[in-house]
Formats: sequence, structure tokens, C-alpha cells
Amino acid sequence: MINYDVIVIGRGLIGSAAARHLATHGVNVALIGPSEPLNHQTHTGVFGSHYDSGRIVRILDPIPHFAHIAKASITRFRPLEKQTGINFYHEVGYLVVSNNPEYLANMEACAKVFYPQVERFNPSELAERFPYFHFPSDVDSLYQPTDGGYLNPREHISAQNKALKLHGGTVLDETVLEVQPNGQMVNVRTAQGWITGHKVLLATGIYANVGGIIPRKIAFEVEPHTTILGEISAEEIPKLTGMPSLSYRLGDDPQRFIYFMPPIQYPDGKYYVKIGHSKGDRIASDRESLQHWFQNEGDPERIEWLTETLHQLLPTTTFASLHSRSCALTISSTGKQYIDQFDEVPIFALLADHGQCAKSADELGLMATELILNGRLPSPYRTDDHRIQYQQISVLYEKTEVD
Ligand SMILES: Cc1cc2nc3c(=O)[nH]c(=O)nc-3n(C[C@H](O)[C@H](O)[C@H](O)COP(=O)(O)OP(=O)(O)OC[C@H]3O[C@@H](n4cnc5c(N)ncnc54)[C@H](O)[C@@H]3O)c2cc1C
Repeated sequence: MINYDVIVIGRGLIGSAAARHLATHGVNVALIGPSEPLNHQTHTGVFGSHYDSGRIVRILDPIPHFAHIAKASITRFRPLEKQTGINFYHEVGYLVVSNNPEYLANMEACAKVFYPQVERFNPSELAERFPYFHFPSDVDSLYQPTDGGYLNPREHISAQNKALKLHGGTVLDETVLEVQPNGQMVNVRTAQGWITGHKVLLATGIYANVGGIIPRKIAFEVEPHTTILGEISAEEIPKLTGMPSLSYRLGDDPQRFIYFMPPIQYPDGKYYVKIGHSKGDRIASDRESLQHWFQNEGDPERIEWLTETLHQLLPTTTFASLHSRSCALTISSTGKQYIDQFDEVPIFALLADHGQCAKSADELGLMATELILNGRLPSPYRTDDHRIQYQQISVLYEKTEVD
């Protein structure tokens, strides 16, 4: 059986970051996870939250912890791009627009600490600076011109995986079917057979509680998300030059908060803007429910509302086509990620990221690396803040297979 120091399960944004940091610390790492499914409608294996070409990058956030982990990650984007030759980060700026004074006040308080150079625009300045957007007259805004914009999650993972290999790590394009502690070691089974590790790190995203892998089920929820991609024709692109990523919060109904991304080139070669909702409902986290959600193209009511909102937000833009997509993220019960060791086994969690962590994956991966190597999180993080919360009723090592 092949033997590794650490086996990281989950080749998404966060697991890939952790594996790379472990390898740069001289650890013999195997990172296991399947590539993106070719056809979502027919795929029956696991899905991930990273099958897209755009994720907002921003330091501005109403919650200091999220601003902190984002800022720490962003400082490492350019060095990783340089090391790997893979460009994944686009510094086009980030704009937040709202008529909710409390939300903006929290953002501004956080900005004082993490991004003091924040700019503020009133509605007429907004219209002049960003003429393609239409906002109501009662909004206010904050603008982050640097250290923000978007990243391409597919390319970010490619860069992390390439850097991992440059540091001697191994990438296995497999799905893990079973994890079995065996004394001081942990055995991990894929369709290719067993490998063994001194330690295992679980970074399986929304599939955390799907059986056979996790020692004890964690308390978390899965939030389904619908997005709309609006195709921008070649003639329209120049009119949208300089467009930033955007968070747009009108009124007090969190279900009506949206985010928006500027034109990004997708794998089909075309350019799309993207609109999505910032908060969502819940779905069950069992394998069947997740598969059903990912095999479909989002929630019809949200598709209608997001399409209408997109037209209101960009009234002078014509879309060559509109498509909807489904995705999902995880919500922890503490508001912070679970970065912790399971009781009495050399298995660690890097789970329940609480959404919005594409931009912060690198720092979360570094935090898990320090925990695995030194038994505690690095300063200024508090190990107790990131303890796993368990489900009340939980079955040890369910035998159900994942794939
Ligand atoms: C619609 C949407 C929009 C978002 N927008 C933003 C944004 O603008 N900015 C931002 O910062 N964040 C954003 N996020 C959040 C961000 O995408 C997530 O925080 C991030 O993807 C979580 O990374 P992860 O590695 O924990 O999970 P994932 O990226 O889902 O990776 C988990 C991986 O585990 C693998 N896996 C599961 N089970 C197994 C198994 N048994 N064996 C092997 N591998 C397994 C999966 O294949 C997957 O690759 C958004 C999320 C969604 C859904």
C-alpha cells in the first residue's frame, strides 16, 4: 500500500490550498478528488462548489474574520501565479451598493482596519463612474479599487495543484469511497485500491456528511444557489470596460440581496456576466438531494427574479443569451469554518466553510496546515473558534459508498 504523511480528500479550492501548503512545508502529500464532471445532467458521482469561471475577490466585508482571511489569501495570489505561470486573479475592483445604512456602516467599520483606502460614491458619482449600472436614488456605496475583483476558481485550483506537484506532492483524480482508521494510520480506498496516510484531512465541501468518509457527522447546512449567466456579444464588451464585481443589497430582505460579476470568458470561449443571490434556502445534505440539485439548472422562481433584476441593473445592455446554473455552499453552525481534529483519530476537518471562501481558500488551507503540523491554529486565530460542531445524532462510519 502506498504510504503518505498526509492524505487530503477533496480537490476543491480549500483542499487544494491545504495540500499545497503542506507540501511547501516538506510534507509528503497526496491530494485526492475527481475532476469537474463533463455532463452535470448525467453525472452520478460527487459535485463541488467550484465549477465556474468567476468568484468575487474582496477584502470589504461586514464581518472582520472574513475580511481578515480574504486579505491574507489575496497577498499570495500573485506569487502563486508567478510560480505556476497560471493567471487566475483579475484585479478589476469591487463595489458594494446598498440602501441599508447598518450594512454599510459595518462594512465601513471593517474597512477602517482592513482596507482604509476605501472610496465612497453618492448616487450621481456612481452613475458617472459606472454608467452601465442603474441603481435607485436612495443608495450609498463603497468601492475597493485594488486587491479586489474576481478569481477564476478552475484556474486557481489548477495553479494550486501545479504548485503542489512542483513541491513533490501527488494529485490523484479519484473519488474516495471509504476511510478506515487503523491504529496510528488511516487507510483510504478509491476505485484503484487502498492507500495509507499518517494523517487525513477532509475537505469534501458539501459532501462532508455523505457516508463512508467522515468519522462523525458534523452540524452544517447546505444552501442551494441559482445563478444566471448573461452572454455579452463582442460589440457590447467595450461598453462594459472597467466594470467591477458588485454586491448589491436593497432593503431588508436578505433573500433579495444579489451579487454580480463583470464579463468573464468561459470555457466555451464566450463572455458572460453573472448574477446570483447572496443568501438562500436549505436542502438536505444527503447524496440523492445534492445530486438532484446539481443535475438541474436552478430554482425557477429565482431564475425569473434574477433575470428581471439583471435587466434592471444593466438596462442598456443586450444579452445574446441567458442561462441558469445550480451550485451550493455550506453553512456552519458557528459562522466560522471547522478546522479541527476529530476525536481520537488522526483525521482532521477543513469543512463547513460558511460560503464565500473561494477568495479565502488559501488562508484556510494554511490554517489547517499549521493545525496538522503544530497542533494549533496560527496567530491571530483561536483554535477554539474553529472547533467541529457535531450533529446531535450521529452514526460512526456509515458503510454507504459515495460513488
Ligand atoms: C453560486 C456560488 C457563488 C459563490 N461565489 C463566491 C464568490 O463570489 N466569492 C467567494 O469567495 N466565494 C464564493 N462562493 C463560495 C466558494 O465557491 C466556496 O466557499 C468554495 O468553493 C468552497 O471550497 P471547498 O474546497 O470547501 O469546497 P468545493 O470547492 O466544493 O470542493 C470540495 C471538493 O471535494 C470533492 N469531494 C467530495 N466528496 C469527495 C470524495 N468522496 N472523494 C474525493 N473528493 C470528494 C468534490 O469533488 C469537490 O471538488 C460561491 C459559491 C457558490 C455556490
